[in-house]
Amino acid sequence: MAVCRSCAHPLPEPGLCGRCIADPPHYDQVIAACRYAYPLDTLIQSYKYRGRLAAASTLAALLAGRIRSRPDLIVPMPLAAQRLRERGFNQALELARIIGRQLNAPVDAGLCIKSRDTAPQTRLPWKARRKNIRGAFVVLGSLEGCHVAVVDDVLTTGATLSELARNLKRAGAARVTGYVVARTVSR
Ligand SMILES: [Zn+2]
Repeated sequence: MAVCRSCAHPLPEPGLCGRCIADPPHYDQVIAACRYAYPLDTLIQSYKYRGRLAAASTLAALLAGRIRSRPDLIVPMPLAAQRLRERGFNQALELARIIGRQLNAPVDAGLCIKSRDTAPQTRLPWKARRKNIRGAFVVLGSLEGCHVAVVDDVLTTGATLSELARNLKRAGAARVTGYVVARTVSR
């Protein structure tokens, strides 16, 4: 199955999807282990919302199997402080740690901060998502010429990843790749 070479959305043939052509994202590429569908969606939900930390190694192994190059730095998609308190852990950080060990790449959990909580993106129409997330991230430090990989569990529209990538590139990153376990597919 072909996917968009930028956002990893399924396509009938290799290339770029219409959305990425019309409105290019700030990241360079998304590597997704699988589609967000049964049974992976159930495993991700039990990991994320019920704290089934044992699922992290299964999910991370699926993702690591798709990665062909080693980034200079891995960062987990940051959670806002309030969300982190509610959930008790950052699901992206556990995945990033395992993948960092497998790729022998450094993981920096303190580089990017989500400076404010945002309305859950899933409740918003596609166009409102970019506005909702704009300015929500702060990147501390310089990333001159680095290939940075951002790890997250699920990618939906990519608006959040694109906004973080915009900030990473402003801090000097040469390339930003998203590593996601599952990618949702629009009907
Ligand atoms: Zn695309």
